[in-house]
Formats: sequence, C-alpha cells, structure tokens
Amino acid sequence: MNATADEIEVKMGAVSAVDLAKEREHAGTVGDITSPDPRMVCRDVNVWYDSNHAIRQVSLDIGRNEVIAMIGPSGCGKSTFLRCLNRMNDTIPSARVTGSIKLDGEEILDRGIDVVPLRARAGMVFQKPNPFPKSVYENVAYGPRIHGLTNSRDELDELVETSLRRAGLWDEVKDRLDAPGTGLSGGQQQRLCIARTIAVSPEVILMDEPCSALDPIATAIIEQLIDELREQYTIAIVTHSMQQAARVSQRTAYFHLGDLIEVGPTEQIFSKPRHKLTEDYITGRFG
Ligand code: ADP
Repeated sequence: MNATADEIEVKMGAVSAVDLAKEREHAGTVGDITSPDPRMVCRDVNVWYDSNHAIRQVSLDIGRNEVIAMIGPSGCGKSTFLRCLNRMNDTIPSARVTGSIKLDGEEILDRGIDVVPLRARAGMVFQKPNPFPKSVYENVAYGPRIHGLTNSRDELDELVETSLRRAGLWDEVKDRLDAPGTGLSGGQQQRLCIARTIAVSPEVILMDEPCSALDPIATAIIEQLIDELREQYTIAIVTHSMQQAARVSQRTAYFHLGDLIEVGPTEQIFSKPRHKLTEDYITGRFG
C-alpha cells in the first residue's frame, strides 16, 4: 500500500482506535469501506494484466440505491475495478482477478457462474455510446428478447416504452422508433444505451465515464437522469471529472496506482479529505 498504518495514523490525527483497526484491516484504505445496506460486497480484490498488478487488495461495499463515484488519476485502475463488478475483465485474455465479489450475497467471481445473466444484473454503460446498428426500438427490445423477459409483442412494446421513459428519451424518440439508433445525437445515444441497460431489469448500473464524449447540455441531462435512477438502482460511476463526482454521487472512492486510498461520503471527500494523496488530487496538485 501507499501509506503504512503509522503514516495513516499521523495523517488522520484524532480517530478512534476502533476506526484505525478497521482501516488497518483493509490494507490501509482510509474511511469506511462498508455500507449499512450493501448490494455488492468486494473483498481483497486484485487484478493483474500479465505481471502488471493493476488493482491491489481492494475492499469496498456498494450500497443499495446509492451512486458511488470512482475517481483518481488516469491509469489508477478505476475502469479495471468497475469491469470486475460484472466480470467484463474476462474478455481481456491477460487479465487475472482474485478475491471475492458478491452481488446480493452471490459470489460472482466463481468460475461456474453464467456471466450472461450477471451482465444483465450488473449492466455497463460505456464511455462512447455504442448503440447496436439497429432501430431505436430494437436496441431496447434486444435484451428482453434474448433473456425471454416478455411473453407477447404488447408486453415487449410496453417494456420498450417504460425503459425509454425511465431513460428520459421517450418523448424525443416515440415518433421514430424504427429509425436507426446510430442516427440519434450523442446524448440521445447514451440515453438509448441506458434504456437498453434498464430494459433487462438490472440491480446495478456500471457507468464508465458515461459523459466524457458528450457536450455540457447532454452531460447535464445524463447527470439528472443518474440522480433519478438512483431511486431504483445502485450505480457505480467512473469519472475523471471531480465536479461530476461531487454532483452525482453520495459516496466517493479515490484510487491511486491500483490502491483504494480513501472512501467516504462525497461531501467529506471533497471538503475534508483525510488522506494526503486524496487531498493532493482533489486540490489539483497532481492527476
Ligand atoms: P483508469 O480507468 O483509472 O484510467 P485502468 O483501469 O484503465 O485505469 O488502468 C489501470 C492499469 O491497468 C494501467 O496500468 C493500464 O495500463 C492497465 N490496463 C488497463 N486495461 C488494460 C488492458 N486491457 N490490457 C492490459 N493492461 C491494461
């Protein structure tokens, strides 16, 4: 780890012995890694790409109905950790993941589990909107069809409409459901991808810099949407924008060179970071 327990003690000043012991247990991460109502429980997660140890002993709970932001300098492992949460790293041949990640109590790193339903339960929205080369309707209907979620065309129509409504896109596309999804604006395409994710009833939505390809207006719409979606879903978002993390999340996790340095309520992380590395990052001293 970057900070020894002694260094943490010095930096944190007056914290209780119990807090300190808890923090030492978690390889030096400062702050409470636990959630009172966790949806995902990650313990001692490590990721290697060949010999590059990209994530080191990361333990973190992700709470129900919360937005947790993952921030840190480029290359610190934010996306790698996010990809662990629905086994997307399986698609990278050099990647090796160890530790434990539970979704509603079920171990998802277990080799025996089927990743197709897992990726519906923990759906991913990517940096660059990536609609299928199909119509708006088919983009949303595809997942429910392959997962057999509806029994009739009417039910499917309803699910497509509900998903597009939840993604805040229905009014803009209801008259062009047969038009290609790729013909929409960037912000609309990203909301289409969110609708596609929602359509298969996920428990968790993973977002990897979902606004970085969007203009400020489209970004504001997505941020508003994230806030609304929190009522029904758990959301983990990787962002390079500290302002965005401050606006959309309730908890923030700060990564540095593969270590989870600090986690805490977003307001505290940005106003009173406890670890020197977090402070240096949020005050713009590096990153
Ligand atoms: P961040 O999202 O914080 O920018 P990443 O998770 O992308 O960080 O990267 C963390 C480390 O893992 C970096 O050293 C990066 O080079 C390495 N890495 C990321 N993706 C891959 C990959 N597909 N193959 C090999 N190494 C990777």
